[in-house]
Amino acid sequence: MSEAPPELAALRARMAELNDLGQIHSLMFWDQNTMMPPRGAAARADHSSTLELISHGRLTDPEVGRLLDTLAPWAAGEDPDSEAVRLLAVVRRDHEKAVRVPAALAAEMSHADALGQQAWQEARAASDFSHFRDALARHVELRHRYVECFEPAAHPYDILLDDFEPGLTTEELRPLFETLRDELVDLVAAAATNDAQARNHGAFSGPFEADDQRRAVMVVLEAVGFDPDGWRLDPAPHPFAQSLGPQDVRITTRYDLHDFGVAHFSALHEFGHGLYEAGIAPELARSPLGAPVSLGVHESQSRLWENLIGRSRPFCGWVLPILREQLGPALGTIDAEGLYRAVNSVQRSPIRVDADETTYNLHIILRFELELALIEGTLAVDDLPAAWNEGMHRLLGVEVPDDALGVLQDVHWGAGLFGYFPTYTLGNLIAAQLWTRLQADLPEIEAQIGRGELAPLRDWLGEHIHRHGRKFPPRELLHRVTGDTLRPEPFLAYLRAKLADVAP
Ligand code: ZN
Repeated sequence: MSEAPPELAALRARMAELNDLGQIHSLMFWDQNTMMPPRGAAARADHSSTLELISHGRLTDPEVGRLLDTLAPWAAGEDPDSEAVRLLAVVRRDHEKAVRVPAALAAEMSHADALGQQAWQEARAASDFSHFRDALARHVELRHRYVECFEPAAHPYDILLDDFEPGLTTEELRPLFETLRDELVDLVAAAATNDAQARNHGAFSGPFEADDQRRAVMVVLEAVGFDPDGWRLDPAPHPFAQSLGPQDVRITTRYDLHDFGVAHFSALHEFGHGLYEAGIAPELARSPLGAPVSLGVHESQSRLWENLIGRSRPFCGWVLPILREQLGPALGTIDAEGLYRAVNSVQRSPIRVDADETTYNLHIILRFELELALIEGTLAVDDLPAAWNEGMHRLLGVEVPDDALGVLQDVHWGAGLFGYFPTYTLGNLIAAQLWTRLQADLPEIEAQIGRGELAPLRDWLGEHIHRHGRKFPPRELLHRVTGDTLRPEPFLAYLRAKLADVAP
């Protein structure tokens, strides 16, 4: 290893500042979604766009390109797995992507995103797609202009995917989702109950006071690894996790009076996200490597805690006495086996965020098919609601009652987020692939979970996934950990085994 040229320190210093600006933005986002009074929105939009402009200017500064070029010959002689070489690759990627998009187009897009969210809110309130139609057409047009800023890809959708899941292509995703779709349609047909049951078969229907729920959630979180000196839990209408530094992790949950399952599972989900951010190696802090590598890998961590752990038989057995102590008689007389069966029930629902583990990915596959068709131009914006309703019937056997509970249910398209939805399903697939490996490495894991001993699990995730941050691209990380490529079979095998286990 030769001594690093002074340009490396100069680049690191610039990137540390950029990281700080990003975390200030995160703080504003957290505040906006937990604390800010509604009338603060206009001023916050100004703060946000000013900060965005400053960050964009720093990242696209020609001096960053010059430093990267100067460092390239040195990096070529270094260990390709070293932190410095990986850092340069990540900075080059971020810099070149940002430079390619003209400032005027970036501004147009962020303006359209704000207007689109407004139009979406109004359309959803009126349950009328026609109020959202023009904003969506504008988003599609802007995405085409965005795609044109880059070297032509095999498919224009690849450029959009790459913003959320670096390196993933449509060609890779399409057959994977087709396999998943065909298998899941059959599994849902065999396992779903048709009656309009409460979620989790009513196991958590209460009613439960919000204070009681919060106390119960905190006891569970602290037992699985929430550190009160480095984490916060707050209520938010749409739960999320956000870290402002390695020792400042903010997670949120939502309290539904008649369904403690909402708070319980969303807290476990966001805990998984938080644990990832908290577990990134301290030496990567304030560096572009000190962040989660992709939305798919991020989501694999949350789904792992929510579903593979949180809905497992040993976890249900361990958590039930805790919940009973905190929630009292409102929990009814359910036993651990009953809880395990209830939280793994399969139900057809028109709503993605209410979907269980088995039906969930079909909601995503529908959105993927429709996004692809909109970008390819084979589906006209005006025909989207009909295509949505047809898809819900075809994939899930669900009749969509209206646009609000159908095509307008998610904020993503309003905010111009195309290429984002697939990462939810990637998270489920990656979680199952990691779990297979984890079980081989930790043969006692089920018994440990049953005793509430979660340190070995946290350590395994920290060692194999969390500490690396963005050092290895997502598919390389998966391969390093599992020796495998991205594929749906481990998830399908996990799901089939679960459904056979809970079948009456
Ligand atoms: Zn998530």
